[in-house]
Amino acid sequence: MMPGSNALYQEVILEHNRKPRNFRKLDQADRVSEGFNPLCGDHFTVWVKLHGDRVEDVSFLGSGCAISKAAGSLMTIEIKGKTIAEALTMVERFQRLVTGQSLDGGAMVPERLEVFAGVKEFPSRVKCATLPWHALKAALEARERTVSTE
Ligand code: ZN
Repeated sequence: MMPGSNALYQEVILEHNRKPRNFRKLDQADRVSEGFNPLCGDHFTVWVKLHGDRVEDVSFLGSGCAISKAAGSLMTIEIKGKTIAEALTMVERFQRLVTGQSLDGGAMVPERLEVFAGVKEFPSRVKCATLPWHALKAALEARERTVSTE
């Protein structure tokens, strides 16, 4: 069973699973962090290249289920060009989206991330969706170690 509140959302996730964007090692990255979800076996590395306080480029590579891979793919698209502060805000909002919590002050998540709203119906998949985001957060906060969701 795939999370997703409708067929279109499922299709977006499957398409990003088949053809993940920015799915490569980033040469000359400023930050790198690894994320591991032992419950599902998702294991990804996230690379970040900074220019000042802005994310100039971001990539990820590894293996995992469709949810985790699609989450990483859409994350890299969303975060590229953002400031570190904006990116960390997006990590927080994504976490709230997939756990079904309301966003502060009526804040919105970008439309392309809303495909993950259905994940809240599948608690065991929440950690799949948030894994790449946890790794991104660790990279942005310069904690160079493996992040486990457990
Ligand atoms: Zn998974």
